[in-house]
Amino acid sequence: MRGRLIVISAPSGAGKTSLVKALLKRDTRLAVSVSHTTRPKRPDEVSGKDYFFVKPATFASMRDAGAFLEYATVFGNAYGTAHEQLDRTLASGRDVVLEIDWQGAAQVRARFPDALSVFVLPPSMEALLERLEVRGQDGAEEIKRRWRQAVDDISHCDEFNYTVVNNDFDAAVSRLAGIIDAERRGEQAQHECVTALVENLLRR
Ligand code: 5GP
Repeated sequence: MRGRLIVISAPSGAGKTSLVKALLKRDTRLAVSVSHTTRPKRPDEVSGKDYFFVKPATFASMRDAGAFLEYATVFGNAYGTAHEQLDRTLASGRDVVLEIDWQGAAQVRARFPDALSVFVLPPSMEALLERLEVRGQDGAEEIKRRWRQAVDDISHCDEFNYTVVNNDFDAAVSRLAGIIDAERRGEQAQHECVTALVENLLRR
């Protein structure tokens, strides 16, 4: 069976990337899509693993050639999910996590209504600011910008199938894993139910 798309969005600093990493460790049927971006690489990031870091002109020509399933401008940089690798992974039967913003999530939903979407919330705005500061990835101005943008991001939370509050990290990982598991079991149950019905219908 073809894998399914699992979209996970969150305001910056809510812990989405750490949650997805933990999820991938406990679930071998999951893969994560590596996005393309024009954002400069951070010192601890690895090209091809965290992102494919590309020049704006490369991004634009990929976009014009229809290489992206979805793309958006976030914090002044372009981000996009390329079809190529994604299609291959889905065809192999693995479910693929897309860590993308709400604009990209809306595009994926429009093209794949069956995609599962989860929005990760921080426990409070104060906790979010603290996490943005503690992780030390961005300068003070960028932190302020990301924190202010969080309000707009959070206002899109009800467009998603599920929300997960990242208060206790382990509990949030378990909830995410539980959501994916329940969705898979539902799909499996329906598949078995239809198979049984078809067999029954054909017997007559
Ligand atoms: P960061 O610069 O902190 O890695 O990511 C900034 C934002 O861009 C995050 O909200 C992240 O989810 C989003 N993002 C990362 N990759 C993609 C992508 O391929 N498409 C879209 N639409 N958003 C992305």
